[in-house]
Amino acid sequence: MGTDVLVIGGGNAALCAALMAAEAGASVTLLEAAPREWRGGNSGHTRNLRCMHDAPQDVLVDAYSEEEFWQDLLKVTGGITNEKLARLTIRESSTCRDWMRSHGVHFQPPLSGALHVARTNAFFMGGGKALVNAFYRSAEKLGVKIRYNAPVDRLEIDKGRFVAAWMGEERITATTCVLAAGGFESNREWLREAWGQNAQGEWPADNFLIRGTRFNQGVLLKHMLAQGADPIGDATQAHMVAIDARAPLYDGGICTRIDCVSLGVVVNTEARRFYDEGEDFWPKRYAIWGRLVAQQPGQTAYSIIDSKAIGRFMPPVFEGVQAASLPELAGKLSLDVDTFMQTLNNYNHACRIGTFDHTVLDDCHTEGVSPAKTHWARTIDTAPFYAYAVRPGVTFTYLGLETDETAAVRFGGVPSDNLFVAGEMMAGNVLGKGYTAGVGMSIGTAFGRIAGTQAALAARAMQTGAAA
Ligand SMILES: Cc1cc2nc3c(=O)[nH]c(=O)nc-3n(C[C@H](O)[C@H](O)[C@H](O)COP(=O)(O)OP(=O)(O)OC[C@H]3O[C@@H](n4cnc5c(N)ncnc54)[C@H](O)[C@@H]3O)c2cc1C
Repeated sequence: MGTDVLVIGGGNAALCAALMAAEAGASVTLLEAAPREWRGGNSGHTRNLRCMHDAPQDVLVDAYSEEEFWQDLLKVTGGITNEKLARLTIRESSTCRDWMRSHGVHFQPPLSGALHVARTNAFFMGGGKALVNAFYRSAEKLGVKIRYNAPVDRLEIDKGRFVAAWMGEERITATTCVLAAGGFESNREWLREAWGQNAQGEWPADNFLIRGTRFNQGVLLKHMLAQGADPIGDATQAHMVAIDARAPLYDGGICTRIDCVSLGVVVNTEARRFYDEGEDFWPKRYAIWGRLVAQQPGQTAYSIIDSKAIGRFMPPVFEGVQAASLPELAGKLSLDVDTFMQTLNNYNHACRIGTFDHTVLDDCHTEGVSPAKTHWARTIDTAPFYAYAVRPGVTFTYLGLETDETAAVRFGGVPSDNLFVAGEMMAGNVLGKGYTAGVGMSIGTAFGRIAGTQAALAARAMQTGAAA
């Protein structure tokens, strides 16, 4: 006899599902592709969760209403979001922290340098790794059977119903199943295929780095789409950050992110600016910069600051290139010095400096230069000067499985009665494009909890039905 609920995946969404199903009294088995020491997927790299709240709550100051959260999502996604599922995520984010605490997760106010998020984001004490470890400990206590080195390669599905999961020659049956096996961001071949070749004949994805786990290969996502599960999202849409070009191919994590973009200017390998660096607060904009860099020649760009910016952003793990003058900096970056100086001089002359304040959308802006810099525009004129070479860092992909408020996988518009999905595998329902910091964990927690509850309920209903 198989288990009641089979959970496939080993990150936050899978663990939330496993814990909820176990709390509801179901027997649960969790299959994690990674070995124990690499368990937890991208969730192990996280720092915080975006939470709605109507008044100050433990580590969160002020208020962050459902409407404001929704408007933020609407803005970053350009309306490519399912309002019903987005609002469900938002409401769940206001109530999940006590439950998380009951499973050993601790929260703390943001560390200095994490600007603009004290109101909206609750930080995990010890980061995502501590969260994942706490959830695994709690799952073990609740009797969840955990298997590591357990990559599922296919499912047996009969008319939209889950029957069994396969790992090579091993067949694992269960009454219901939750899929929470991440996106396909770690699959470089799939990224290459999705991004294709650009007008210059380059394969942009060959220059992408993967910020998180190497285990999210999208094997089950591809399999489910081939089985006729309803898709959501576009394969080229992803959370993509500009990260240090020296970061490792996988698992560079948070410390390789370059967070000084809004304090300076960014130029491409032709030494030209290409986007408004001060468009909005960094937590609302950092996730578009990977994509912007991906569209530049060589998929490389340079974030340039002067000494006025030092101390105003979280320093990355590797030191930047430093120079006593701007021409020297251009030389060290192997950029055309004349073009670089023209770009920087044009920018400096265009700056209309008001009252600089990095904590609000201030009035420091440019006039008469394209692209404009609409906030925090200050001249870059105070030595030493610094530059960070950046490349696109893929956090997670948005192509996934369409779902509804029960987290059911759908086939031809019909919800499966025993197959559910959570986390990155369905985040595209809420995130058609863009990102706002902390919402990945809000989606994974909300839908992980819903999927676990529904899977336990469905298992009980099916077993009761079968016994009657
Ligand atoms: C560096 C970094 C920082 C981030 N910071 C934040 C943050 O601060 N806040 C935030 O909200 N989001 C953040 N994110 C995004 C966040 O990690 C994701 O939104 C969230 O973790 C998704 O959870 P998940 O459980 O769906 O995926 P994951 O945590 O990636 O889990 C997927 C799991 O599935 C397993 N798996 C994959 N394929 C198979 C298979 N075939 N069989 C069995 N198991 C399989 C993997 O091993 C992994 O355990 C960050 C991501 C990265 C990479």
